[in-house]
Amino acid sequence: MKYYDVTIVGAGPGGIFSAYELNKLAPHLKIAIIESGNPLEKRKCPIDGEKITRCINCKTCSIMSGFGGAGAFSDGKYNITNDFGGTLYEHIGKQKALDLMNYVDSINMSFGGNYTKLYSTANSHLKTECIRHGLHLLDAKVRHLGTDINFQVLTNLYNYLSEKVDIYFNHEVKEVIKDNDEYELVCENESFHSKYCIISAGRSGSKWMEKVSNDLNIPTSSNRVDIGVRVELPSEIFSHITDELYEGKIVYRTAKYQDKVRTFCMNPKGLVVNENTNGIITVNGHSYEDPEKQTENTNFALLVSKHFTEPFKDSNGYGESIAKLSNMLGGGVIVQRFGDLLRGKRSTVDKIENSFINPTLKATPGDLSLVIPKRILDDIIEMIYALDKIAPGTANDETLLYGVEVKFYNMELKVDENLQTNHKNLFVIGDCSGVTHSLSHASASGVYVARYINENII
Ligand SMILES: Cc1cc2nc3c(=O)[nH]c(=O)nc-3n(C[C@H](O)[C@H](O)[C@H](O)COP(=O)(O)OP(=O)(O)OC[C@H]3O[C@@H](n4cnc5c(N)ncnc54)[C@H](O)[C@@H]3O)c2cc1C
Repeated sequence: MKYYDVTIVGAGPGGIFSAYELNKLAPHLKIAIIESGNPLEKRKCPIDGEKITRCINCKTCSIMSGFGGAGAFSDGKYNITNDFGGTLYEHIGKQKALDLMNYVDSINMSFGGNYTKLYSTANSHLKTECIRHGLHLLDAKVRHLGTDINFQVLTNLYNYLSEKVDIYFNHEVKEVIKDNDEYELVCENESFHSKYCIISAGRSGSKWMEKVSNDLNIPTSSNRVDIGVRVELPSEIFSHITDELYEGKIVYRTAKYQDKVRTFCMNPKGLVVNENTNGIITVNGHSYEDPEKQTENTNFALLVSKHFTEPFKDSNGYGESIAKLSNMLGGGVIVQRFGDLLRGKRSTVDKIENSFINPTLKATPGDLSLVIPKRILDDIIEMIYALDKIAPGTANDETLLYGVEVKFYNMELKVDENLQTNHKNLFVIGDCSGVTHSLSHASASGVYVARYINENII
């Protein structure tokens, strides 16, 4: 058994920033981060596009796990806002949440992100343009690190932290045992004991988190999943928006069902990529800051939130079943041209190859109407026509739609205003708490808990 003052499960943004802040405020504390994945330099997805073209379900997914967590190869978009990315503000207040996100930004700047751009929707004329067409542009400041600079910032953070904190890689925590308000984390070959325990296991740790909350009787609730497609089109179509804002978070209420559809994770000149969540292949996207790595396309998701009511509780299971359908039909992600979808025809290899748009992800041409429920598909089609009014060309025949994009939400764990569970000194932060769904909110929650522990440690 190894003894520490504070143990942290997970080396994603939540874990990294809680360790960083705790060490800064209380350097005498013995801190350990226990992470199931690999160090950054060993995080390599085996898909090379030639010998291995599809996900082979590695034991730990290098995209989702390891130092940097799910965000390590992401676009590194730190959205500084309470309008989306989580509900941290409901626990700690809006101003405090924003202050913490700005603080995280300043740390990222000092670890190598200082030449990157901060975009803002404040005073943008695009807001007016959106409203004229029934679209709503959400307020945010966006720091775009880009996949390359994000990786550099993480490397610098690792070099800094690894001298001050013990980081255990390839250590999956199997069990959390409570022992008189102290905690034991049980891994395969060793255990870690600490007075304070912070769990930041992210989305990849969602199933495990469910087990921990059952074992320790932490109340939970769960009722939401977001389902949709990733749109890919020539970058010129959205350049008037992306040049000014980098990412436009735009929400639309459909006339047909009164459902809300939103744009999500916009990647100018970016790449569409596979995402593996618990063995299910869905789609995502990212882009590089380095112009040499940029493409001629922009991609973004269009998502519809499904909230379920009693008696149904397994919203993620619902999303998984839809994603599994696309995996069953296409062996992974399916791609379809917008025109083919409207005509009720599947896209074929020939049609995609003869398109004017070069797809950035090798996906299986098919028919998304066989996978996505009609209501959600109708919502997406209506949104594409609405976006076409502010970005003409969105509804072009050749616009590519990749499916399925699913945003799984962790069940929400009951935590108090200090993000402490019903067990003293046991904190749950980041995406595995259900409170955050983004880099900036997850990181901010880490700083917040670190400061609380520092003020209250005996
Ligand atoms: C491809 C992709 C692109 C994204 N792009 C963006 C973006 O541009 N902007 C944005 O705001 N958000 C983005 N996100 C979401 C963002 O990455 C997450 O919101 C954020 O990483 C959450 O941080 P976290 O620390 O809570 O969890 P994670 O980053 O998921 O980290 C959790 C860590 O815990 C480890 N772990 C899990 N279970 C255990 C266990 N039992 N024992 C030990 N370790 C465990 C995991 O291996 C993982 O490394 C993206 C996500 C993906 C997948």
